[in-house]
Amino acid sequence: MDVYGLVGNPVEHSLSPPMHEAAYDVRDLDARYVTFEPDSDELQQAITGADALGIAGINVTVPFKQEALECVDPDSLAKRVGAVNTISFPESGQPTGHNTDVAGVQLAFDHHDIPLAGTKAVVVGAGGAGRAAAWALREAGATVTVANRTVHRAEELADAVNGDAVGLESLSEVVQSATRLVNATTVGMEEDASPVPPSALHEDLAVLDAVYQPLETRLLREASSAGATTIDGGWMLLFQGVAAFEHWTGLDAPVQTMNEALRNRL
Ligand code: NAP
Repeated sequence: MDVYGLVGNPVEHSLSPPMHEAAYDVRDLDARYVTFEPDSDELQQAITGADALGIAGINVTVPFKQEALECVDPDSLAKRVGAVNTISFPESGQPTGHNTDVAGVQLAFDHHDIPLAGTKAVVVGAGGAGRAAAWALREAGATVTVANRTVHRAEELADAVNGDAVGLESLSEVVQSATRLVNATTVGMEEDASPVPPSALHEDLAVLDAVYQPLETRLLREASSAGATTIDGGWMLLFQGVAAFEHWTGLDAPVQTMNEALRNRL
C-alpha cells in the first residue's frame, strides 16, 4: 500500500484525505492519505523520516510551506514562488518540492473557461495564497497588481512578479480597471465581510475567492450581484490536489470524483 499525507499544524479538519482517497478508489490504487502534525521545529525530521519510511508523497500546508523550500530540492516554479506544498520522494536523491497552489489558481480559471493571458488582474493579499495567485496570473500572461493591508509586503511580491503594488485604499480604483480579481486574504472566513468595496465590482470581472470556508463569501455574493463571474475557493483547493495527484502517480486525476468528495465535505 502507498501512503500519502499532509504535513501541517493544525490539520485535523483538512479536506485533503477524502479528496485524495476518492481518487485512489476510482483509479484502483492501493493507497491511503493521512495527516501529520509535527511541532514547529520538526519539519526537516518529518520529511527525512517520511523519505526513510517509504512515504509516497506529502503535501505541506500552514505553517510549513516556506520552510519546506529549505528541506527539499525545489523545482524552478517552487523556487520562484518561495513555497513548497507538494513533495515527491524519488527512488534516489533528495526529496523534490513543487508548488501546486499555482496550478490550483490557473486551473480554477481554466475550468470556468476564463482566459488569463493579456488580462489586467488584481490580487488582494500578499501571504501564502497571495504569492501563489500572483505567480499563477503572471505565469499565465496577466499583468498583476498586488493590493495588501501591509503595503511593503505588496511591494515585495509585486517586484517579484513585475507588477504594481497598492495599499487597500486604492483597491477600488485598480479593481474598476481590471478584469480578473483574486481575494487571497483571510477576510470573509471568520465574519461576513469582504476586502473589496462592492461599488468597485463590475460585470467584466471574473473573481476567484481563495477562501473556501464558507464557499459563498460576501465578496462572491456582491460580485455576482454586480454581474461578475464568480469562482469559489473550493476550485483552487480541488485543482491543487489534482496537480499533486498527477505529480505523484503520473495518472490523470479523476477531477469530477475529487470535486464531489470535496464538496460533500464543504
Ligand atoms: P496568510 O499567509 O496568513 O496571509 C493572510 C493575508 O490576509 C495577508 O495578505 C494579510 O495582510 C491579509 N489580511 C488578514 N487580515 C486582514 C484584514 N482584516 N484586512 C485586510 N487584509 C487582511 O494566509 P494564506 O495562507 O495566504 O491564506 C489566505 C486565505 O486563502 C485563507 O482564507 C486560506 O484558507 C485561503 N487559502 C485557500 C487555498 C485554496 O486552495 N482555496 C489555498 C491556500 C490558502 P497583511 O500582510 O497586512 O497581514
